[in-house]
Amino acid sequence: MHKDLREVLLSRPELEAGVKKLGERISADYAGRCVTLVGVLKGCVLFMSDLAKSVSVDTRMDFMMLSSYSGAHSTGVVRILLDLKESIEDCDVLIVEDIVDSGLTMEYMLQNLRTRRPRSLEVCTLLDKPSRRRAQVPIKYAGFTIEDKFVVGYGLDFNGLYRNLPYIGVLKPEAIEGKNICR
Ligand code: 5GP
Repeated sequence: MHKDLREVLLSRPELEAGVKKLGERISADYAGRCVTLVGVLKGCVLFMSDLAKSVSVDTRMDFMMLSSYSGAHSTGVVRILLDLKESIEDCDVLIVEDIVDSGLTMEYMLQNLRTRRPRSLEVCTLLDKPSRRRAQVPIKYAGFTIEDKFVVGYGLDFNGLYRNLPYIGVLKPEAIEGKNICR
């Protein structure tokens, strides 16, 4: 376990099993169709890469990056920093997200992507943290439901760090103070 972590919440084998299960469900639900995976950068990278390998139907991949805001001071205003490269009109779109917390980011994504007239639009999130939900968003696929803890690893960061950890854990309080980017 990384020295800055207090506990491992989801181990590598647990993540592998959960992602494989999601992939199997998605493959069955989209049988005979092509699914466009829309990853939300940067948190989706490890999850999306493993999920895509577990999906047996044809896929396309595209990405968006949205502005982040800190939870306590959230205004609910979300901005697109990087938009999709391709049109999703008439496509079966599956949004791939690391975590749904307040739900405000996903609410914005859904509203925005709906205007582009996809054939279908669903949400797949690795983690669901329902205790702090402010917007009720329909989540079709959720890997794990977790308590209200700030987690890092497997794509999720704190100050840009810990995304590469192959498991998900909770930081020690002392690790939260004094971490500068790339130092
Ligand atoms: P929302 O509150 O809009 O549902 O979540 C927005 C974003 O906040 C997520 O995509 C994620 O990047 C970040 N976030 C929410 N909860 C956590 C957490 O426990 N750990 C980390 N690293 N990021 C989180």
